[in-house]
Amino acid sequence: MDQSLKLFKVRGIAIRVHMTFPLILIWAALQFGILARGGWSGALFGIVTTLFLFVIVVLHELGHSFAAQHYGVEVKQIVLLPIGGVAQLAEIPENPRQEFVIAIAGPAVNFALAIFFGSFLFTSGTSLSLTDLPGMLFQLGRTSLASIGAYLFAANLLLGLFNLLPAFPMDGGRVLRALLATKLSYPRATTIAAAIGQSLALFMGLWAFLQGDFFLVLVGIFIFTGASQERNLVLSRNALAGLKVRQAFSRQARFLSPDDELGVAVELTLQGFQADFPVCDQEQVVGILTHSRLVQALTQYGAAIRVREVMDVEFTPISPDQPLMDAQRQFAERHSDALPVIENGRFLGLLTSRDLVEVLQLASIPNALRPGTTETSLASEQVL
Ligand code: ZN
Repeated sequence: MDQSLKLFKVRGIAIRVHMTFPLILIWAALQFGILARGGWSGALFGIVTTLFLFVIVVLHELGHSFAAQHYGVEVKQIVLLPIGGVAQLAEIPENPRQEFVIAIAGPAVNFALAIFFGSFLFTSGTSLSLTDLPGMLFQLGRTSLASIGAYLFAANLLLGLFNLLPAFPMDGGRVLRALLATKLSYPRATTIAAAIGQSLALFMGLWAFLQGDFFLVLVGIFIFTGASQERNLVLSRNALAGLKVRQAFSRQARFLSPDDELGVAVELTLQGFQADFPVCDQEQVVGILTHSRLVQALTQYGAAIRVREVMDVEFTPISPDQPLMDAQRQFAERHSDALPVIENGRFLGLLTSRDLVEVLQLASIPNALRPGTTETSLASEQVL
């Protein structure tokens, strides 16, 4: 994420805060200062407790991160957003035991903190109604050590419980999938966990709608789509497993010369050859001109400018023997639509995101594609 500010580093993990983060502080000040009629001290309470809340979120994400590092998984960074935090891991192991430990480590931190603040509260004699946590939070419009302690106890308890909801993208969804995957295949476990999560989201969304709680309706929709995303990701990765770039790329790809004018690309596109073009200088790929870049350059400079001036020189070539999964990752990470396929420095053709969609469609038909023999890594960036 680009629009974020680095705060500090823990064990090599950068903790970053997103530009939109101050919005939540303003919201908290309004919530406790005006809506809860707390005045200035209420507004201060809102800001202080929200900052504490995000310290808790960082600790939760560090729980995931340390567990991941324990299994040798690279943690790229932790980013704080107004809605919470995400730890970006290079991958989440498809080993049920490891996924279970990594997923449960976050909520475990919250429960440990809840016990810590809870023991403080009960020894200090502050009364607390566990059956009415939201009501209790709402009444805490006065800044005192006891009220902040009560808030932190409740916040950790709620955060831990909420994250354990057995629905993707919550931690509980991963815990459930990991438990199912000890008995079932990984795709099957994911499909079942996603279905359970979606039923839960549907039930919650309907109930919230009837109650008129539209924030909770949004949470329901968020969970519902999160579940289908996770299912699609796992199923498509499973379909691509064992397949090579060689089986999908287009050999008939036309290429442009750096000295061609953009008009040449327009003609080739209109003649129906392709939408994205590698740019080759004597068999060497020197750049790539995607359809979106072409359209952008045409509006900006017109058709007479040379390809050399507007082509994308930052591209990653792919070899025919690389797994298709590598290509899928490139498309997702770099937001690109086409990769030049290169072997021993020679340009062979082009692999586009449309090629990948075709393969995915065919791969869903039994025996339509013959998988390769080598095992491939299922790594792809994950957040939790
Ligand atoms: Zn988590």
